[in-house]
Amino acid sequence: MIKIDGSEGEGGGQVLRNACALSLLTGEPFTIEKIRGGRERPGLMRQHLTSIAAACEIGGANCDGLKMGSTQITFRPGTIKAGNYHFAVGTAGSTGLVLQTVLIPLIHADGPSRVTIEGGTHAASAPPFDFLEKSFLPILNRMGPEVSAQIVRHGFYPRGGGKVVVDINPAPLKPMDCLDRGSLISRSGLLKFAGIPRGIAERLLGAARKTLSDWSADDFILRELPEDHGPGMALLIEAKYEGVTEVVSGFGKLGLKAERIGKSTASRIAGYKKSTAFAGPYLQDQLLLPFAVAGGGSFTTVKISQHTRTAADIIGRFTGRSISFENSTDGTHLIRIR
Ligand code: ATP
Repeated sequence: MIKIDGSEGEGGGQVLRNACALSLLTGEPFTIEKIRGGRERPGLMRQHLTSIAAACEIGGANCDGLKMGSTQITFRPGTIKAGNYHFAVGTAGSTGLVLQTVLIPLIHADGPSRVTIEGGTHAASAPPFDFLEKSFLPILNRMGPEVSAQIVRHGFYPRGGGKVVVDINPAPLKPMDCLDRGSLISRSGLLKFAGIPRGIAERLLGAARKTLSDWSADDFILRELPEDHGPGMALLIEAKYEGVTEVVSGFGKLGLKAERIGKSTASRIAGYKKSTAFAGPYLQDQLLLPFAVAGGGSFTTVKISQHTRTAADIIGRFTGRSISFENSTDGTHLIRIR
């Protein structure tokens, strides 16, 4: 039984999701205490409950202590089974983070699966749908499996109500080395908005355009969604290279000026473009699990995040794989999984 202190490292929900996935993949039970001990309000929230319950369902696992606010659980894995699954967070909790828990295990199931997840699709501190679709899944698919995702309905914070459908065709994950991103193919700044006055959306996108002054007007797109998908607003700035697509995101927030969101999101893509690294700051921690399950590989990235260091520790405890970080003289970092 692996024992985890959930307050160590990043001390958030990612430890739980990775531990559930790794437990299903390795057959090792685990117990975790001080869940989300690094957060202001520790313990399980709806999004985490849904993720763990989803792991139990796809993996025939059982879990003690699974209730709102719980700070300790014990998880015992069973057998991963392909199927047609439906999970609903019930709040704007992230559909992407529920997917993060079940996807790699289902790639190792006995057949294809379809997973429908309801909750938030575009909210802060989680991968928005566009990031999963354009940045994360294409790399996963290059490793062997076929995974496709559709968005049926957008869900913004605080209302949620979004829905995504993910089809998974399993195949063993192959190791990859992703050192170069290649040349830039295209770029775009897409603002999705629903149930918000058009003028506010235009101000947000205008600020992004002003910051990315060398981009052309055609690179920016305003897309109004049906009013009942909102209220909400998400800016998704994409830079597509031969080897990888980076998607940075910014979300409308009550009390935060639209111009500020546009400018700060645009500055982040400019920062990524200046570097030569393959993986951006969020893709980084999300690639570790598939790379570790593949048995190795490497990729270059921007500054190593605390999420990445914590994920590397948890992966090491379940699999014995060593993950090393090397600084390069050009300011990028090389992550090697052995
Ligand atoms: P907590 O509420 O405890 O912070 P959590 O479960 O909401 O926990 P984290 O543990 O912070 O979340 O993990 C967040 C995950 O979402 C990480 O894998 C991170 O890479 C990813 N993520 C956060 N923001 C983005 C973003 N803008 N784009 C892509 N991925 C993101």
